[in-house]
Amino acid sequence: MQKLDLVRENLYLGDICAAAEILKNGSSEISHVLTVLHRPSISVFEEWRNVKLESKEIKEVYVGGGDGDGQDSLQGKEFATESALPSGKLLYSLERTGKDLEFTRMVVFAYDEECENLLDFFDLCLDFIDAGRKEKGVLVHCFAGQSRSASMVIAYLMRMEMLSGKEALASLRQCAQASPNPGFLKQLDLFERMNFKVDRSSPIYKHFRLKALGYLYSKDKKFDRLKLRADPEIMSNESSGSTYHCKKCKRILLFQEQVIDHTPGEADSEFDDMFKNMIGEVRNKNPGDPNQCTSIFVEPIVWMNTVEDFVSEGKLLCPKCSAKVGSFDWSGSYCSCGSKIIPAFQLQMSRVDVITVKDGVKKKKNNKHDKRRV
Ligand SMILES: [Zn+2]
Ligand SMILES: [Zn+2]
Repeated sequence: MQKLDLVRENLYLGDICAAAEILKNGSSEISHVLTVLHRPSISVFEEWRNVKLESKEIKEVYVGGGDGDGQDSLQGKEFATESALPSGKLLYSLERTGKDLEFTRMVVFAYDEECENLLDFFDLCLDFIDAGRKEKGVLVHCFAGQSRSASMVIAYLMRMEMLSGKEALASLRQCAQASPNPGFLKQLDLFERMNFKVDRSSPIYKHFRLKALGYLYSKDKKFDRLKLRADPEIMSNESSGSTYHCKKCKRILLFQEQVIDHTPGEADSEFDDMFKNMIGEVRNKNPGDPNQCTSIFVEPIVWMNTVEDFVSEGKLLCPKCSAKVGSFDWSGSYCSCGSKIIPAFQLQMSRVDVITVKDGVKKKKNNKHDKRRV
């Protein structure tokens, strides 16, 4: 029995059996196949369905660093930056395959697990689905056709038809079985809140990226250095927001838009569906004064030299004068308001000066390097 459902004109959702059949026999309706599997090499069809297929690589794209770095670490490969996926991981591959190599297959690597990051694949995959539908037709499949691939199709319906995640799921269920895991539902919710685009400059995405980084660290105590955010000192500042400086030497440490907001007094539990078993998971909070935050929390930034593999907590020092400006703790720490933030990269307000740039006043720029933005 195979699962193959027509969701919209030229858009099919299926399981691995359906994909194997279509690739083997060719299709008058389908030209593009999107595979979302944890082991998606073409041999998977032989292993599971005894279907041996030829394939010809078009390209492979790897996950790069946080702000455009990392291009040199694996030669001859293309890199995509700015994601929350582990640096160096294969982001996606494109190939020709199937009968007479007539199909274009895009492959993204994902387990059907709640902690799995699908969000960073959405824009890519949705564009691929669009292209496939325009050419002839596209099949989106995973193993069972219910969670990973269904989530992709739901995200696609959301973007195309401006539906909420709930509406898109309900709509899909009218033509196919679909049951995304709770972590995927959470990511569809984030996608909706970012207006159907993975907006990497939005506070929502930054919070997600920080959590994903902390989750990776909690697994093997290794810190993905390429995910350090750009140093504000070398970024050209078109921001009109405030800047944060070392109180002692005035060196710039942070732009306002690099701050990860938290709701005073509330536990940082938004991603509990996704990142279970993260170190430092704490449900209760400190009794704090919800009217007062003495810390701000950020993503790790290039100047934070004390952040290393296997170092779970430490001080954050000003890169110029070495004054202590804050601290970090992968298992989280409390703000004075009672919120616990996990992981915590925390600047103490008493150690920094905040310079507010008034509207209309253009700040002097520090033109050391090209534009690098968080
Ligand atoms: Zn300093
Ligand atoms: Zn606070």
